[in-house]
Amino acid sequence: MLRSVILAASRSSRVERLVETAPLTRDVVHRFIAGVTADDALHTTRDLVGSGLAVTLDHLGEDTVTPDQATAIKDEYLAMLAALGGAGLTPAAEVSVKLSALGQKFDEQLAYDLARQICVAASNAGTTVTLDMEDHTTTDSTLEILAKLRLDYPTTGAVLQAYLRRTEADCRELATLGSRVRLCKGAYKEPESVAFQSALDVDKSYVRCMNILMSGEGYPMLATHDPRLIAIGEDRARWFDRSPDAFEFQLLHGVRPDEQLRLSGEGYTVRVYVPYGTDWYGYMMRRLAERPANLLFFARAVKSR
Ligand code: FAD
Repeated sequence: MLRSVILAASRSSRVERLVETAPLTRDVVHRFIAGVTADDALHTTRDLVGSGLAVTLDHLGEDTVTPDQATAIKDEYLAMLAALGGAGLTPAAEVSVKLSALGQKFDEQLAYDLARQICVAASNAGTTVTLDMEDHTTTDSTLEILAKLRLDYPTTGAVLQAYLRRTEADCRELATLGSRVRLCKGAYKEPESVAFQSALDVDKSYVRCMNILMSGEGYPMLATHDPRLIAIGEDRARWFDRSPDAFEFQLLHGVRPDEQLRLSGEGYTVRVYVPYGTDWYGYMMRRLAERPANLLFFARAVKSR
């Protein structure tokens, strides 16, 4: 119920204006994002890579409405990839891209063209791109664009969301040689017709999808903070004889940092998803919706003012 309310608020421009101007916002936002500038993101990336973690950088922004906005976001990615390459942070750091930020909702061809330019820049910088997955109305389009990009840039990563009923079938399609697939639970408010609604059903689907990916031929990227799913991931790695460099765990910046270091200390590849930029509202609201403790953190910040 609370999750639904917060996710609904994440789509409201009125609530967005209220939250953005609230005095507490800075502290809360800085827990989850690296900062607003590219320099902030590079600084955080350097620290994380220095402590043995891999990174995927997300330039915040989604649902752009003009070609100029979409092109500006593509330019941000190109500049960031050049900076990462120049700083010797590749291939440890890659980038995550939301196609809706590149115009997918009004011009799919434009989104493909811009994503392709980001793949070219990533390849020149010696690293890769992962296409984030957004709400279910975009899944087919995102997987189609992924398939086209992978013809020339086969390491382009996909994201599949365990809460969608279709995802087991998508995992089977994508568990092929050379394919990189991030498996997450899913962060959007989705109707029962397309998505499991109970946490238990989502978790069970996650395990079924994980089994398909870990027993397949691709490179699974297990994105979760859930201790039980992480333990099952470690178990499946042993069961399917996957060495620590044949799959990875992924966690969000600011979430369970001790666990990030513990897993890395065990020898696993651990990639931290690091968002940066000014357009943080939708991202932060999805994080608040995921976990009541994040809301408590939010409330404490209000009280302390
Ligand atoms: P949850 O069900 O949120 O939490 C399960 C358990 O994990 C909790 O009970 C608790 O024990 C532990 N836990 C969770 N958060 C915390 C915390 N802050 N502190 C301590 N313990 C905690 N979603 C998309 O829809 N598209 C994407 O492209 C996408 N990319 C992602 C990339 C990465 C690297 C990650 C980690 C997530 C991504 N997500 C994406 C978000 C994802 O779908 C989930 O919404 C999010 O990860 C929360 O699910 P969870 O698996 O962590 O489990």
